[in-house]
Amino acid sequence: MGASERINLLDFDRAGLEAFVADLGEPKFRAHQLMKWIHHRHETDFAAMSDLGKSLRARLAEIAQVRPPEVLFEGVSSDGTRKWLLGMDAGNAVETVFIPDRGRGTLCVSSQVGCGLNCSFCATARQGFNRNLSAAEIVGQVFIAARKLGNLPHRERRITNVVLMGMGEPLLNFDNVVRAMNVMRDDLGYGLANKRVTLSTAGLVPMIDRLAEVCDVSLAVSLHAPDDELRSRLVPLNRKYPIDELLAACARYARARPRSSVTFEYTLIRGVNDAPEQARALVKLMRRLPSKVNLIPFNPFPGTEFQRPEEERIRAFQKILLDAGILTTVRRTRGEDIDAACGQLRGRVLDRTRRSSGRRPEHQPATLEHAA
Ligand code: SAH
Repeated sequence: MGASERINLLDFDRAGLEAFVADLGEPKFRAHQLMKWIHHRHETDFAAMSDLGKSLRARLAEIAQVRPPEVLFEGVSSDGTRKWLLGMDAGNAVETVFIPDRGRGTLCVSSQVGCGLNCSFCATARQGFNRNLSAAEIVGQVFIAARKLGNLPHRERRITNVVLMGMGEPLLNFDNVVRAMNVMRDDLGYGLANKRVTLSTAGLVPMIDRLAEVCDVSLAVSLHAPDDELRSRLVPLNRKYPIDELLAACARYARARPRSSVTFEYTLIRGVNDAPEQARALVKLMRRLPSKVNLIPFNPFPGTEFQRPEEERIRAFQKILLDAGILTTVRRTRGEDIDAACGQLRGRVLDRTRRSSGRRPEHQPATLEHAA
């Protein structure tokens, strides 16, 4: 059996792996042993899984594999942020970022190769879209990061949080993303508490409702503007699901999942959405649904006309929200020197939407040269 036909065990959550071993006539606990070998010890060689029994090991080697994505490039920022360019198939690669921060280690994973939503201020959008990632390719990002970080001194190496804030719109890849989050939240997987797994969405209303039916993860919603006219320009998806409907869906999520949190992300762009009256309009919106706001100073990338506001303007915007009693944080920019900051992730996308054609041929990331 060729490598591509063998089933990749990174694709399974606990229930899936239990069903898989049951088909082989094995008891459930074999699935649990396998999960520990894979996700705790990052073992890919069945022969080394000593407690599995010889015949099972041989059978697994015939029909299955543990195949993580291929690391094409690794970058380390001066601030300790790490970025990996991970090859998913012959033509496509995505980026995964690890951000260590005072006892916390946040891994930012991608859910799609490229993105189809075309938000005007996001570098990923410029590359167009190729396909959804499989659950194995999403879990594989955590697998690779955990294995790589295993070599670092203990304090800075732990993945304590995972955010689905990399390339792609996670709610457009619902089933695979949910399965991957199951592995992240499983003690036999990466053992993260529900609230430490955050799914960020541009605002797919029906899918937010579906998410509420299946799990308790933290929800981050990319708002970026206090009115529909502006939001539609920044996030075209707003034409389909305007702010009112989006906020209503967030309120339903918060009601259905009272232990989870809903945060609004607001990328601050100079002269576009950073004015004091826009902050006050945002305050009004937030009255409807008490929740946290995370301000993200715009991260520039080649070819964009947008700019980051001055520090003072960011603080003034934040102050208006804070004074109104809204918990508001400013996301510190991390990993900017290796293009790993929010909105700077690009990977390598064989675009099928032709969005990228005719646009900046220099756009292939320089990192690929190192990778070759
Ligand atoms: N598609 C999902 C996941 C992307 S998350 C979503 O839209 O939420 C990445 C976050 O960074 C989103 O809030 C996104 O709007 C924001 N972002 C995109 N480009 C950015 C940029 N250049 N600077 C700062 N934030 C950006």
